[in-house]
Amino acid sequence: MEKVKFEELNISDEVKKAVREIGFTEATEIQSATIPLILEGEDVIGHSQTGSGKTAAFGIPAIESIDAGNKKDTQVLVLCPTRELAMQSCDEIRRFLKYKEGIKVLAVYGGEPIGHQISALRKGAQIIIGTPGRVMDHLRRKTIKTQNLKMVVLDEADEMLNMGFREDIETILKDVPEERQTVLFSATMPPAILAITKQYQKNPKLIKIARKQMTVSTIEQFYYDVPKDAKIEALTRLLSANDIKLSMVFCNTKSMVDDLSAELKQRGYRAEGLHGDMKQASRTKVLDLFKSGQIDILVATDVAARGIDVDNIDAVFNFDLPQDTEYYVHRIGRTGRAGKSGRAYTLITGRKQFYSMRDLMRMTKADIVKKELPTYEEMEQYNLQKFMERVVEKAEKEIRPDYFEVYQQLLDKVGDSAKLGAAMVRMLMKKDKKLSVKKVISLDQKKPRMDMSRGTQTRRVKMGDIIISIGRKQQVAPNHIVGAITQATGIPGNMIGHITILDNNTVVEVPKEYRENIVSSLDGCKIKGILTKTVVSDVKRPQEKSGYSSGRRDGKNRPQKRRYKG
Ligand code: ADP
Ligand code: MG
Repeated sequence: MEKVKFEELNISDEVKKAVREIGFTEATEIQSATIPLILEGEDVIGHSQTGSGKTAAFGIPAIESIDAGNKKDTQVLVLCPTRELAMQSCDEIRRFLKYKEGIKVLAVYGGEPIGHQISALRKGAQIIIGTPGRVMDHLRRKTIKTQNLKMVVLDEADEMLNMGFREDIETILKDVPEERQTVLFSATMPPAILAITKQYQKNPKLIKIARKQMTVSTIEQFYYDVPKDAKIEALTRLLSANDIKLSMVFCNTKSMVDDLSAELKQRGYRAEGLHGDMKQASRTKVLDLFKSGQIDILVATDVAARGIDVDNIDAVFNFDLPQDTEYYVHRIGRTGRAGKSGRAYTLITGRKQFYSMRDLMRMTKADIVKKELPTYEEMEQYNLQKFMERVVEKAEKEIRPDYFEVYQQLLDKVGDSAKLGAAMVRMLMKKDKKLSVKKVISLDQKKPRMDMSRGTQTRRVKMGDIIISIGRKQQVAPNHIVGAITQATGIPGNMIGHITILDNNTVVEVPKEYRENIVSSLDGCKIKGILTKTVVSDVKRPQEKSGYSSGRRDGKNRPQKRRYKG
């Protein structure tokens, strides 16, 4: 499709001047094709990928259609899916209006007190950009009057339908004068949209722009096949192993955003969630925090993240595999901006998602490389390395005399500088929440399953005992013990073996390999409100048949429970 210069378009000098100042010279393909048609009054369907410049495609002709003599009535109504997009489009159109006298544009959206909007509307705005729910509200209150409406624009129509706005949109379209121009823009064209265009547009001209090379070569793309319950651990490993400072993490659902951001915060990351169900004020706050660098990780749904423009994002994570190619491209496009390099990491689980991943590669023609996660041991090594760097850095900077004194006193007590040093390292490392053993076990153990070429494998895990200082006299039950262990360490309940409840102690069988980690996480935890101690036990246990009581209530599966299936 031909591209034209803005100078060649049949638009006013004022808009040309503003566009020139913004720095646009050539119209994009969708703009070149749709602006002339919309200017002629045609109904148009604009189908082109995200980032192709659809806002100006409808925004410029919308401006040109306004009768500036009429200051009161709404003449163009733009519907779009979110507050952020409404604000963003409003800003963009306002830029085109810089040299136009007497034309006003206003954004109205839910989540903001309606009274404020009503007084703004009373002053009059010829172009209104709003979310469907709020626009409907204003139509009902007659604070938006449509008797002189000339044009309705449905922007990001696919997204509005995804968000469940179909009924609202139809109510609005039935409500406004029939003698109007209807323009629809969308990145994808599902059948539901075609149904709307059939019913509410008159002889619409369909302009479809074939997608270009979809992803930028400056973004390195990787994917990892990870068990579902180990995705958070996978994410945190990738974050630290790749030195990622600023990142966006995409989830497919709002509840996943909530869960994941809470979990990351708990692990000591500066993370916040962003999705459409959040109060407007908190959404704005989160965005501001992210833009100003006060949080490092923004966990978001696709819709909430639309239109967010932040530079310097080191990496994008697809915590959930995006539902379609469009989303993938849009998500990863948040990194690698302005000529910088960026990285995109996608987590998938299982064969079905592996096939989706292959489709994604075929459709985007991108090279998405399969990688293996760093192992727990590699991470520990890596974290120790980082820790050492930090210590060296500190040692070079701050040397306070009283520290020497403290060290000397400690040395006097311990009597062995190596032991003292090791204890200090241990304490300091433990303070670092990001180093917790949560979920690591399930991740490392399940690794064989991730290699799809080899099929499933079973793997025996060597077990060992720990002793927790709470027992029958404190009325502890197996579920308390399982709960406490999974809580404190994140290891899945099915990796816990026999639980033997004694009078004042409980012996628990756990994977030997991780026994030390489990003890250090569990020691000092409260169980049933009682402060407990936990230690490693290497006392040989009597065989099963001897009178030892196994406390697991679900004892029927006990033999399987003892072993971990990889
Ligand atoms: P879409 O709605 O198709 O996703 P936008 O309208 O949001 O795309 O535009 C994407 C970006 O491209 C915006 O930053 C916009 O300012 C810019 N842009 C739009 N048209 C042009 C143009 N003709 N030349 C240069 N940049 C443009
Ligand atoms: Mg758009």
